[in-house]
Amino acid sequence: MRFATTILAAPLLLAGPTAFAQTTSVWNNKQCAVVLTYDDAIDVDLDNALPALDSVGLRGTFYLIGSSPVVAKRLPEWRRAAQRGHELGNHALMHPCDGSLPGRGFVTPDNDLSKYTVSRAVSEIRANNTLLAAIDGKTARTFAYPCGDKQIGGVNFYDQLKNDFVAARGVTAGLQTASQVKLDDIDCYMINGQNGQYLIDLVKRAQQSHTLLVFLFHGVGGGHSLNVALAAHRQLLRYLQAHEKDIYVAPMVEVATKIRVSQQGGAARP
Ligand SMILES: [Zn+2]
Repeated sequence: MRFATTILAAPLLLAGPTAFAQTTSVWNNKQCAVVLTYDDAIDVDLDNALPALDSVGLRGTFYLIGSSPVVAKRLPEWRRAAQRGHELGNHALMHPCDGSLPGRGFVTPDNDLSKYTVSRAVSEIRANNTLLAAIDGKTARTFAYPCGDKQIGGVNFYDQLKNDFVAARGVTAGLQTASQVKLDDIDCYMINGQNGQYLIDLVKRAQQSHTLLVFLFHGVGGGHSLNVALAAHRQLLRYLQAHEKDIYVAPMVEVATKIRVSQQGGAARP
């Protein structure tokens, strides 16, 4: 047995630690990683997105706003989604956004992040974690910045939350290798109206570059002003299912945990 092991190991040693091999080990020995995220705790998450994911055996991350009436009214359905392996991520209790920025007419005085203190933002996000833990019983999860806003009066509020989360998703578009990913501001592609081919082309780019691709969806087949058509969403999921041996698809908390381990171990290089 010992002899056989040596023979098998030899070609691997000769091949050397290529960047390709290191990257794929982070992505579960596949070409790339894809994370499907759905924001804002809306009815279509439960009515359209989850059934579509479950029908092809894929799992995603749902960033919940604790105060959403859809959390209150349909709590057992969120719990069952978590039991099926989907992540209930934290999208803050009240979804505060910085109303002082241009184009933020939709921000109400109650939920204006620029009027928050840092400690209030931090406590509300922690309270949302308590709520989510009461729903799914889990202690590890990820955060998504409401409106992508990171600062209050020039202070990054997430700095106080780094130990509460595995990672945080931002809103900057980009594909990154495991070593390039910033775990406190993970890039993603926000989808609004693009067709299925566009979504699949993004996945192909991730496959070629061995990177992490994160999709950010709001409405799926309606339910939000930012939307992806049901057919386009289904086309993406079918492509991912058909290429499951090449593409690592998992909730953000699982992918981010692998990235964290690889960054701490220094194993991954661009
Ligand atoms: Zn949001």
